[in-house]
Amino acid sequence: MEHAPMASFEGSAEGAQWPWWRTTRQDVMVLPWIILIHLTAAAGIILFPLPGWRIFLGALALSWIGGIGTTVCYHRGLAHRALRLHPVCCAILIFFAMFNGSGSPISWVASHRVHHANADTPDDVSSPVWRGFWWAHLRWLWQSEPPSVKRVCPDLDRYSYRIWRFLQPPILVLSYFGGLYFGAAAFFWLGAIRLCFSLHAQCFVNSVCHGDPKVPIGADSSRNVGWLGFMHLFQGENWHRNHHARPAQARLGQGWRQPDAGYIVIRVLEKVGMASQVRRPGGSVAAL
Ligand SMILES: [Zn+2]
Ligand SMILES: [Zn+2]
Repeated sequence: MEHAPMASFEGSAEGAQWPWWRTTRQDVMVLPWIILIHLTAAAGIILFPLPGWRIFLGALALSWIGGIGTTVCYHRGLAHRALRLHPVCCAILIFFAMFNGSGSPISWVASHRVHHANADTPDDVSSPVWRGFWWAHLRWLWQSEPPSVKRVCPDLDRYSYRIWRFLQPPILVLSYFGGLYFGAAAFFWLGAIRLCFSLHAQCFVNSVCHGDPKVPIGADSSRNVGWLGFMHLFQGENWHRNHHARPAQARLGQGWRQPDAGYIVIRVLEKVGMASQVRRPGGSVAAL
């Protein structure tokens, strides 16, 4: 779905004038959560700098599947309708995206659609152009007013998506503490260290994949950032200029030089009947 520019979104980034620690009423738990996972992660790195390859690969696997949940389900599937997912597959991917700290699908999709509709204008709440790197990277998460769900994503305003908002606290408790079952090193690495890594990998899309200095201020300044592909475990989100140019397409990387594991996953899901109506270059749903 291409989203028509929305009427202005006044006051949404008012928080940029606030001290960094002040939060909106809706996002009051966001900053304490981010501080908690960073303090825990720092303690984990000091106490268990080398957790062993099993735990390390486990953390990487959780981050990878969570990232797939975000890019395939939240981003390409729900926000842009570039593919349709089977409800069971959708629910599994939502779970892992939330387990990875991406928040509920409705809040993610609402913010993201507003971002595309206003890219790099003053109404783009996550743009680094107007309010700087740290605002775009993190602060907007707790200092910008969430958009109106009814206005921005009425298609998701139903029970099957709203329920995830209520499931978020238990999912995050499981995400943070779950590793304890496998011991102290796993507690830190499968929990807070993995959550911090995944958080910053995602936040770099807002802070680093926008702000191309060659673009006039106020115009869409999205850019492809090759090195971010390593941190994204080659899932494709770093090809952000491609994405802004063609937001309704399921494929973000172009050719083998731009790895896009998210698209490979989509093709596999399509083959096994878990994804359909995949929108591809050229506008054909069926063509590759
Ligand atoms: Zn963008
Ligand atoms: Zn997008």
